[in-house]
Amino acid sequence: MAVFVLDRRKKPLMPCAERRARLLLARGRARVHRVVPLTIRLVDRLQEDSTLQPLRLKMDPGSQTTGMALVREPDTTDTTREDTIRALTVLMLLEIQHRGPSIHEALTQRSSHRRFRRGRLRHRPARFDNRTKPEGWLAPSLQHRVDTTMAWVDRLCRWAPVAALSQELVRFDTQQMQNPEISGVAYQHGTLAGYEVREYLLEKWARTCAYCGAHNTPLEIDHIHPKSQGGSDRVSNLTIACHDCNQRKGSQDVAVFLAKRPETLQRIRAQAPAPLRDAAAVNSTRWALYQRLKATGLEVEVASGGRTKWNRHRLHLPKTHSLDAVCVGSVDTIHNAQQPVLTIKATGRGSDQRTRLTKHGFPRGYLTRSKSAFGFQTGDLVKAVVTSGKKAGRYFGRVAIRATGSFNIQTATGLVQGIAHRFCILIQRADGYGYALTKRAFDTGEAGTGAAYAAALSLPGMNPGVSRANG
Ligand SMILES: [Zn+2]
Repeated sequence: MAVFVLDRRKKPLMPCAERRARLLLARGRARVHRVVPLTIRLVDRLQEDSTLQPLRLKMDPGSQTTGMALVREPDTTDTTREDTIRALTVLMLLEIQHRGPSIHEALTQRSSHRRFRRGRLRHRPARFDNRTKPEGWLAPSLQHRVDTTMAWVDRLCRWAPVAALSQELVRFDTQQMQNPEISGVAYQHGTLAGYEVREYLLEKWARTCAYCGAHNTPLEIDHIHPKSQGGSDRVSNLTIACHDCNQRKGSQDVAVFLAKRPETLQRIRAQAPAPLRDAAAVNSTRWALYQRLKATGLEVEVASGGRTKWNRHRLHLPKTHSLDAVCVGSVDTIHNAQQPVLTIKATGRGSDQRTRLTKHGFPRGYLTRSKSAFGFQTGDLVKAVVTSGKKAGRYFGRVAIRATGSFNIQTATGLVQGIAHRFCILIQRADGYGYALTKRAFDTGEAGTGAAYAAALSLPGMNPGVSRANG
């Protein structure tokens, strides 16, 4: 994973390899500016004296996790070559885990508690619903998704010379698919157009098997009038079915297959030729993000989910959020995709509520008024070296404070409870995110050791106090 490099005046330079960063620090040419993600500041260099290559930040916004990838683009200024292959070099893979459900839960709880309390006071007549939401309003849990993503776009632009952005905006390319039912777009297996058609069909048939209604299962494209009997590949002759139904139907005509289920047959016959209504409508959160990205003034490339999937299959990459981000937009080949993924979990900055409530909304227990204890705050990144006792060991992670001074540390591998504050060393102040470097891009599921950051912690010349000036 690349290390961010800043110049003397904190302007971004080209990110460098970890080895080089270590060397620069050892020679005293750089200081640690921030620990996670590792950012160093050169003491003897200015941005004006350095050559910068164009970097592109790609993102695949998801409902729970947004994948991001920082890539170096090939030099397109070389006009002697016309067949420039878009070979991208991956510098950094990130995954942002949103906290939409917890925001939704907290707000639902608040409103139900308020309703409960008001209802107890006196009778209140029903009120006219005469208040309108402002244009472009998003629910707080969705607004959070846009805000968090933008916060990271801003940060990465501050730490690296990002010149362009790519975003997956739509599921399928509406421009390529103008009225697919009418214009006669055909499905071709394995092509980009084929992938766009597939996404279109999934959307049109609501991601459920047309014959049995199964969802959350792999779905296949099915010819309503079978190909063997002269059925076409046109979109109006296609539907999606689960593997079982597809097998059972085989090369039968839909009328034969559904002879005993006339309602289903009628529904499919009615829906098949009807174009997807409101095909241009984009997911409102993604659209809001696109508007914010455009407002940065950088060039924004917009791509479809069909293209992402096509790229992913063509490049033989597994499906992960960050690798999907790499596959957004036009890509020919990629280098250096096998590297750790930095998982960034939006944790919030704690609550102002100083008492917990029972499920009925009555106060239960009181929390400490102070948000800090012994110089630490919940969410701070700490290193603890416990030399003796049952908890002996080295721990690195996010701390949760207690007034007693017995802290909990959330490490990459799990929660460690009851670590005394005197063993803890502050590495980085809480910034509303929890960090883990737990995965390699390719072998997902296996918990790593976070070796890169463990190594970073033993870098010579590193002073934990430096990171308090949150870059
Ligand atoms: Zn089925």
